[in-house]
Order: sequence, then C-alpha cells, then structure tokens
Amino acid sequence: MMLFRSSYPDLDIPTQIPLWDFLFTPSPYFKPINSPSSPPSFINALTNKSLTFQEVKQYSVYFSTALRTLGLEAGDVISICTPNSIWYPVALFGILRAGCLPALSSPAFGEDEMVHVFRTVGAKYVICYNENPKIVREAARKCGTEEKRIIVLEGKANEMRSVEDLVEEGRQLGDERQVEPWRVPFGKKNSEVCAVFCFSSGTTGLPKAVLISHQNIIAQLLQLLPTTSNDHTTILGLLPFYHITGVVKLLTLPLILPSSVILLTHTPLSIPLLLSTISHYRIAEPQLVPPLIIHLANSPLNQNYDLSCIKRFASGAAPISPSVLQRLETRFPGRGFKQGYGMTESAGCITTHPLWAHSFKYARKGGTLVANTFIKIVDEKGRLLGVNEKGEILAKGPQMVMGYWDNEKATRDAFDEEGFLRTGDEGSIDEEGFITFHDRIKEMIKVKGIQVAPVELEELVSGFEGVVDCAVVGVRDEYSGERPFGFVVLKDGIRREGIEEEIMAFVRERKVRTKWLSGVRVVEMIPKSASGKILRRVLRDRLEREGQHV
Ligand code: AMP
Repeated sequence: MMLFRSSYPDLDIPTQIPLWDFLFTPSPYFKPINSPSSPPSFINALTNKSLTFQEVKQYSVYFSTALRTLGLEAGDVISICTPNSIWYPVALFGILRAGCLPALSSPAFGEDEMVHVFRTVGAKYVICYNENPKIVREAARKCGTEEKRIIVLEGKANEMRSVEDLVEEGRQLGDERQVEPWRVPFGKKNSEVCAVFCFSSGTTGLPKAVLISHQNIIAQLLQLLPTTSNDHTTILGLLPFYHITGVVKLLTLPLILPSSVILLTHTPLSIPLLLSTISHYRIAEPQLVPPLIIHLANSPLNQNYDLSCIKRFASGAAPISPSVLQRLETRFPGRGFKQGYGMTESAGCITTHPLWAHSFKYARKGGTLVANTFIKIVDEKGRLLGVNEKGEILAKGPQMVMGYWDNEKATRDAFDEEGFLRTGDEGSIDEEGFITFHDRIKEMIKVKGIQVAPVELEELVSGFEGVVDCAVVGVRDEYSGERPFGFVVLKDGIRREGIEEEIMAFVRERKVRTKWLSGVRVVEMIPKSASGKILRRVLRDRLEREGQHV
C-alpha cells in the first residue's frame, strides 16, 4: 500500500482545549521560539496605529462580554467582511471567546456575493468597515438582518457602533462581570466543534462555508512550528485575514511565536510601499503570493531599498513558474525560498519546506508533509500510485476540516471512503518526500491566489438576455496566474456586434474584480460529457493551443 507519511515525529494534538485558550493561556503544548525585545503587536504600517497582543487579548475579553450583552449565544454566527485591520484580531478572538462563530469573507464583494455569504451561514450580526456599509446594509436587509445588527470594525460610519465602542461598553461593566470563556461542550472534542467559517468552492460547485474546527487550527499551528525559523520575528501582514492563510499565518501563529505583524492595508498595493515596509521593519521572511513575487523578480525599484533583511521569500496559494524563480534568485542572490501547499479544506498547509530546505534548490517543489499528515496519490480509477508518479493528491491529518456547513453531499464527496480529503490537485511525491504540484484537476480558477468558482460565473452569465448555455474556464495569465474566460451559446438571431463586451460589463457590474472575465467567445455548443458535465479541459486545451494568454 503506497501511503506516504510525514517524516516529522508525531505531535500530541490536544483534544479538549478551545482555540482562544490555546492562544492566550500559558500552554504546555509548545514553547515560544522568539523572545521579542518590544511587546509584540499588530501594527498598521500606514497609520502607525498598533495594538499589543496583550491589548488584543484584553479587548477580546471585553468584546466577548459585549456580544453576550447584545444577546448573542454560543453557536451564533457573525460575519466579518473587512480588510485587514489591527481591530480584526480583537473582533475574531472576541467572537471565539464568546463561543460564537466568525464567518470570514472578502470586503470587496458586491451585494449578491455578500447575500450568498450571509445566507449560507445565517449570520446574526455583520461586521463591516466604513467603506462598504451601503453594500453590507443592502445585503443584510435582503437576508432579513436588522440594521442595528451591523457593526463597523474600526472608526465611525454614520450612526453605526464600532467594535471599539463595544469593547468600551464591555470594559465599563468591570472585570468581575466579564463572561467566562467558552468551553468545548461536555462529551465533545475540539475536533467536533467549528471555530471559524472560511469560504471555498472545493473541487466543484459554488463557494461553500468550510467548517474549520478548533483542533484544525491548533493542529496546523503545532505542525507549522517545527518548520518556522526563529528569525521570523516580524511578519508581513499583507495577505487577507479572511483567507485561511491569513487566519493561520498572520492572526494566530504570530501570537504563539510570538512575532509582531505589520499590516499593509492599502489597496491596490503599491510596490514602493511594500518594499519600504519590508526594509523599514527588517522583515526576514515576507509571506507573499505569486503575482507579488513576479513584481519583485522584475521590478528595478528593488535597487532603491535596503532589502538586505530578506533571508527568504515565502509563497503559496498558486504555482510559480521556473523562469520567475530564476529571475528572483538572480535579483536576490544568496537568499532562500519556501512555499506551502494546501487549501482552505486542510486549514492551511499539507506540505511546506522543512527548515533545512529553505533554498532555491528546492523552490520548484511544494515542500514535505507537515507532522501527523499522510497522503496518497491516485490515478483516475482511484488506484494507488508510487514515487514520482503523477495523480490526484488525497490527504489525511488533524488539520483536514470537518466539511461544509449544511451541505452533506459536498462534505461526503470531499473525502474518500478512508477519510482522505480529495484535493482536486494533480501532483507527485519524490524519494525525498517533496511534493510537486502539476495541475489543478478541479474546476476552481485561481486569480492572484484568490479562488474563483466557474459555476458562480456561469450562473450569472446564463442570466444575460439571449444566453442559452455557457462555460467559464481559467486562461493562463503571466501575472495573475489565471483569469476566467467565458464561452457562450446564444439564442438564434440574437448575436450582435459587441455582445461579448456587453457580457463582460454585465459581470463587472456584479462581481468582485478577481471574477471579471478576461474575454468572452460565442460558440455553437459547449462540449459536454454523456452525463452533461462541461468538459472544461477541452475548452482550456483549446485556449492553450491557440496560445491564449491575457
Ligand atoms: P485555497 O482553498 O483558496 O487555499 O485554494 C487551494 C488551492 O490552491 C489548492 O487546491 C491548489 O490548487 C492551490 N494551491 C495552494 N498552494 C499551492 C502551491 N504552493 N502551489 C500550487 N498551487 C497551490
């Protein structure tokens, strides 16, 4: 039986402790690997505002009490749709401490996308920021959420209350009236209780709410510790907090290392600002995504900053081409490289580079299995494959999530009969235990590392007047990795000049930027299997053959 297992010694993963306690109470489960000289904090690089971890902890206590005062009970869902902010951890940890469930999603979503999020999880309260309250209000109204149940994360937006206001209300109650932290219910394990919802389309279909348990995150933190070097003392907080990578690497891992987090919240991100922040805060291991790595590999601006602090680049979320890696190494000789491979459904990493392999020599590989993790590689018929053979990666370990909220079928389909998570990725594993990512077999498109579910765009485009059938696939893009491209079949006689552009504009008006179509083509028919499934590979291959790049 070809089962590949992690070469790290097995870790003892706690089964009863809730995530809030794991992060904020002295722990027998790990030793901090850093001893920072100043109090570790979340720091906004633009405004210089900051909150120390101690303040985050204290404020999350007050916030949890305020949530209870508002009438929220354990198990109630609160949606957070905001950009990164120093108040984000206060909100997140306050919600966890109260035993409520945070549902994390993009702040840039349009109204319909927000409605999908709020409806899927049945959000009782929503935390927005002062640039999206109108969209959030409208979406919340459509879901029957009263206006007074919308909270702004930071600052003021009209008459809405802020997280800061609620922290103050909680504080005024006095220390003796703070609520007790939530406990894992008697008879249950921390692997059986959801801590956080993130959204993912998985291998197929629309974005779904992923049930990430307390144990999933705790396990992932313990798995990452032996792969984290002790120069990781100041962390770049650039990737979105609402993504699982943000939750693990930017919101929770820093607390236990401990390491300060420098938030860059500016959108669109300016490269000079990124470089000056790395230089100013002497960041040794900037955690980036492939489009930013491409910028750094190409940008002549690098020479204007003292980037001697960079010891290695960290990447993930999507593949990086060998030519980009080569340029990066030429521009930054003597530095290292590491990447993580995983998915929302694996609460972060399945593999990452071990400490001894943080070098460009291993950069094209996806790293080795983190502790307590197994994979198998299978062909289309489900037969087990061996070393260096290409097939679908299936993974098992304590970080594999509980499934999808209120979607038994999708949960069942996500795992095989032995409980292995189907990644929908094609990969292989070599003699040294390093995996290589080859291709995505699942439908998902990734634009700048962010998921786009083709089905969501197909549903939308099918609603365009005169479209009778449609398919959306990813077309390769040098900078974004991929971008969605639409094929449409039109009703007889409806075709007119410029209809392709009209369809693209229709999508632009309704969806967040990453979902905008890079092109539309009118075709006679969409290729489908006998059972009616769109043959996406055929369409993708067609675009590749034509050399379609955007
Ligand atoms: P998400 O759930 O948004 O994290 O997306 C997970 C998917 O991103 C994986 O199933 C892969 O297809 C892709 N992915 C994640 N990490 C990597 C990586 N290091 N290299 C290539 N693709 C990756």
